[in-house]
Amino acid sequence: MPRHTHIAPYSGPAGGWGSAKSVTKYMAEQGVMGRGGPILAKQNKPDGFACVSCAWAKPVPPHTAEFCENGAKATFWELTNKRTTPAFFAEHTITELQSWSDHDLEDAGRLTTPMRYNPATDKYEAVGWETAFATIGRELAEIREQDPRRVVFYTSGRASLETAYMFQLLARLYGNNNLPDSSNMCHESTSVGLKESIGVPVGTVTLEDFDHADALFFFGQNVGSNSPRMLHQLQEASDRGATIVSFNPLCERGLERFINPQNPVQMLTGSETTISREYHQVRPGGDIAVVIGMCRYLFEEDRRSGGVLDHAFLAEHTQGMDAFRDFVMAQSWVDLERESGLSRASIEGAAKIYASAKAAMVVYGMGITQHKLGVQAVQMLVNLLLLRGNIGRLGAGICPVRGHSNVQGQRTVGIAEKPELVPLDKLEELYQFTAPREKGTSTVEACEGIIDGSIDAFVGLGGNFLRAVPDHSRMEKAWPNMRLTVQIATKLNRNHLFNGKTAFLLPCLGRIEKDRQASGEQTVTIEDSTAVIRKSKAMAEPASPDLRSEPCIVAGIAKATLPPNPNVPWDAWVGDYGLVRDAIAKTWPDTFADFNRRMHEPHGFRRPIAASSRKWATPSGKALFKLPKSLNASFDDGTDPNVLRLITLRSNDQFNTTVYGYSDRFRGIEGTRDVLLMNEKDMARFGIADGQTIGLSTATDDNVERSLGGLRVVKYNIPEGSCAGYYPECNVLIPLWQHAEESMVPAAKSVPVRIMR
Ligand code: SF4
Repeated sequence: MPRHTHIAPYSGPAGGWGSAKSVTKYMAEQGVMGRGGPILAKQNKPDGFACVSCAWAKPVPPHTAEFCENGAKATFWELTNKRTTPAFFAEHTITELQSWSDHDLEDAGRLTTPMRYNPATDKYEAVGWETAFATIGRELAEIREQDPRRVVFYTSGRASLETAYMFQLLARLYGNNNLPDSSNMCHESTSVGLKESIGVPVGTVTLEDFDHADALFFFGQNVGSNSPRMLHQLQEASDRGATIVSFNPLCERGLERFINPQNPVQMLTGSETTISREYHQVRPGGDIAVVIGMCRYLFEEDRRSGGVLDHAFLAEHTQGMDAFRDFVMAQSWVDLERESGLSRASIEGAAKIYASAKAAMVVYGMGITQHKLGVQAVQMLVNLLLLRGNIGRLGAGICPVRGHSNVQGQRTVGIAEKPELVPLDKLEELYQFTAPREKGTSTVEACEGIIDGSIDAFVGLGGNFLRAVPDHSRMEKAWPNMRLTVQIATKLNRNHLFNGKTAFLLPCLGRIEKDRQASGEQTVTIEDSTAVIRKSKAMAEPASPDLRSEPCIVAGIAKATLPPNPNVPWDAWVGDYGLVRDAIAKTWPDTFADFNRRMHEPHGFRRPIAASSRKWATPSGKALFKLPKSLNASFDDGTDPNVLRLITLRSNDQFNTTVYGYSDRFRGIEGTRDVLLMNEKDMARFGIADGQTIGLSTATDDNVERSLGGLRVVKYNIPEGSCAGYYPECNVLIPLWQHAEESMVPAAKSVPVRIMR
């Protein structure tokens, strides 16, 4: 049945009755009206399960309902009564399923049975677990004989700490560090940038800091759709008089107005909380120029009246401030205004708020990290905070908001392609093998390897790799050239419709489903955006008796592939995940000592983050001021009026590549995803009408044609010279080589494009 399309500005707040209705709607659509509610009540609770969607921190004590609209959708999506069975696959060829939308593929329901792709019938067919493991093991072992570097072990960011630890060990025992993960596509710029500047690859703030910040600055993050429970902290901050200032090309409703669905007065009266006191629509790729402008004001004001910069902190804890000041003072306001798209007055206004705050925090997302100079944009945010000593004290610090629920945690337990980030000596000692020391492939490098044929096999622990990466046409064409592809998943997605010569789709238990092993029901652990590690206890019966847990599947593949190693107790680990945690504690004793006891603390435990206590694990032992290469973070130099900067974004009805539905409520877009948000002046300049259907082509000179058609133009409040469309559909327009320097994060927030009629 065709969906009804309705596009009109949305006038309501974030949260409110809209969220309540949406939660009920999804509970009904997924057929979990009965058991959905009681399970939701345990979401993000100390004795419950950790949300499978984003990684936002979990307060203790929790609110009555400690879930947001999108967290509820993620839970119902996993709990759904719908099933994708062998009978389903018998009805549909893979070629036919390639015409299905991302939404319809996953909405078919939970996978129930291990499947193997049969090229002769172009269909998936049921296979036994042991047969699957044996075949996968044989293929991987043969490739290993040739060259173990030809295999990629990808992780999506959802698997638990226990699974991630086992998966990284599988790859290393196999002989490579090819462990790309979803953070390579989002916060790798954070991991690289913060590590260089302040010595840690993660944020420095805790939830408690939100209770003490006088001012919070948001850059390129859409809290209302991508970490909605943070609105509780922002509402409380706003109510107690803290000032929130937002920089974002789009006016995202969650950063403007909010009604707390758990506040009966607000719900009954419609009285809203204003979130941002100031909202600045920066040009995509213009954040570096904004922050330089703010720093310029601080330097000038400090020279004028003194007492603006924290000189004591700067002298004791930092390095490079003089060079940074000279760089900043050399930038002209003309250039800063052009590149930021904002006026001097706006930028200085924000700087005044910053200068008057005793404690200030910076919160950011992909709008900072997914640019050519994403790493340097992250470091500019650090520079701003260092000037007033806003790192390592209460109410202050830097807060990268992570996407996937355990993406940060996986990194913590060894999912990393850079060998220097992992204690390989300790792993060698514990498991008596020679660890690979060569750098492995990041996500972009894995893609390049699949295209040039140097990668011959892909083992995916969750995720929708082929849909999440750039350059879809080239990737989908190259993917079937691989000898082996193995996908471990809960639901069918587009990546599963492109297969290597031998291909398996292995259905696993979800995090919310009871996982019974030899020692009984298992509990797992995850790490949230604020580096707090806590347990997650399953609530629901498995969707199918034929599902296996992720640790069990990883062990099955490992045992079938690798020569026996008595030091690696795969079976014992599967029987009791507590033994995996003991192994993690032995590998990282400073962080995970007494892991099995501490995980049961109501608050969980926060792993030590040196910079949070002003210890700088940098070569100089100081926090470093870093200079950006340019005021413009994007690939487009802004000189060609026919080139627009495309922002790829998520709707309010999706999480990463998972599309729950077609309601981007806060942007007023219902029933379609084939849209292009455009600035009115640009539309007039190109002679395009609201509602007209056009296409885009990528403005590059690499002789590769990249285009996307069928986009309905929506007149939208977006900076001139930029436009916006949905991820992952628009990823076909992003060249693989257009990624952030140093971190290789795809530059998905400022893709240079031309209008195609
Ligand atoms: S804010 Fe994130 S972690 Fe919390 S319920 Fe929502 S989606 Fe889940």
